[in-house]
Amino acid sequence: MSTDVLHDDFEEKPYWWDAAPVRRGDLPDLPARADVVIVGSGYTGLSAALTLARAGREVVVLDRDAPGAGASSRNAGYVGTALLAPFTKLLAQHGAAKAVAYYGQAKAAFDYTTTLIEREQIRCQYNRSGRIYWAYTQRQLDGLALEFTNLNTHLGKEGRILRGDEIAMECGSELYCGGLLIPETGALHPALFLGGLIERAEAAGASIIGETEVLGIAPATGGHRLETARGNIEAKNVIVATNGYTGRSTPWFQRRMLPALAHMIATEPLDPGLVKKLLPSGRTNLDARSTFHYWRGSPDGTRLLFGGRTGLSASDPETSARAGHAEMAEIFPELEGARITHYWNGRLGLTRDHLPRIGLKDGVHFAMGMNGAGLPMGTYLGHKAALRVLGDGASTTEFDALTFKTIPFYTGNPWFVPTLARLERLKHLLERPPPKTAA
Ligand SMILES: Cc1cc2nc3c(=O)[nH]c(=O)nc-3n(C[C@H](O)[C@H](O)[C@H](O)COP(=O)(O)OP(=O)(O)OC[C@H]3O[C@@H](n4cnc5c(N)ncnc54)[C@H](O)[C@@H]3O)c2cc1C
Repeated sequence: MSTDVLHDDFEEKPYWWDAAPVRRGDLPDLPARADVVIVGSGYTGLSAALTLARAGREVVVLDRDAPGAGASSRNAGYVGTALLAPFTKLLAQHGAAKAVAYYGQAKAAFDYTTTLIEREQIRCQYNRSGRIYWAYTQRQLDGLALEFTNLNTHLGKEGRILRGDEIAMECGSELYCGGLLIPETGALHPALFLGGLIERAEAAGASIIGETEVLGIAPATGGHRLETARGNIEAKNVIVATNGYTGRSTPWFQRRMLPALAHMIATEPLDPGLVKKLLPSGRTNLDARSTFHYWRGSPDGTRLLFGGRTGLSASDPETSARAGHAEMAEIFPELEGARITHYWNGRLGLTRDHLPRIGLKDGVHFAMGMNGAGLPMGTYLGHKAALRVLGDGASTTEFDALTFKTIPFYTGNPWFVPTLARLERLKHLLERPPPKTAA
């Protein structure tokens, strides 16, 4: 019997694409002009397209890859109410009023997204699963307890610290000494959500065109001219929604957006009893250690989907999958023999202060810097960017006034990200308790 952890059908492909494949080929001609051209067809671009098309604007969304093939069909599907920067950190950095305002935006993004799913009847297996942040050490648990006290005091957030017997009721790993449960959050199938947005935006009249890279944006009479790999297109307004995939064609944004790779694997279908043991309550999970692991069940409850090694560069898919498997088996020794069917990665888009950005630069609108929380935040800020184009007063957000600073030493080659990620991993190795092995 083979002991390889890779399944015979192993492939480098997001697990999500099995149920919702991305659309390639059969490209329509590029129109000569549009009211609004949106660069990037993830949640941000599509949400903007939906709002603009419903307001009667002629909208063209361009993507260099297949529509939605960026992070929006590759993520873990967590629908959260938090930002990457912990609330406690924002309190210390910006004071209570600003910290409350920024986290208020995260909750507004959650509310906007879940209401949209309901209003548009998007069938994306959304459920209000709740989320748990897990701690390896007492120091991490104390940090989570402080975070919860601050969230509760300043935002009235509900939740509770899990200790003792409660841990086993929520998690099949013996590695953790406690956790923080935030029940208000949810989970969905990210590619089905994306497909729903594409369908609704197209039904409203938007043209969504993949495999058409925007090579440059220049001012032109009455707006802008976009040079693309398939010809030029003119637009009165442009929205750049490229987040972690922001590149050379928009150099001002590129210098402000740091890409970091995030890696995920899916197991083969597991014994239902084992899934129940590992994920007793079916919630989404994150661990508080610096290497940033996350895991959840597949929406059909048969597999474990595991993310980690964030920031590390991609080696070949098989090596990356094996490395992911080893980290998963460290947390869940019962999965030592579980084989991996899918490995994939995608790019997070980080800003210097880990807060999102929305605004106007040289007449070009933008919404980016989702910092790993763009499922709700991109959907929300895409809508807000569309309202800006429409001149609607409801477009304001708490992020409008933030200056958009460059990333130090970064001009387009994120060579130092894997090094920083390796240092974080080293910190974790020094801090963690010894891993337990299967009996
Ligand atoms: C593995 C992983 C797990 C994650 N888990 C979660 C999670 O559970 N919850 C959550 O909230 N967030 C999560 N995220 C982050 C989330 O996926 C992103 O924040 C979100 O999808 C960003 O959406 P977006 O539309 O702004 O960008 P994207 O979906 O990345 O779309 C940007 C698009 O721009 C296109 N593009 C770039 N340059 C050009 C150009 N010059 N011309 C044309 N097109 C261009 C790209 O091809 C890409 O399709 C995760 C991300 C990854 C990678």
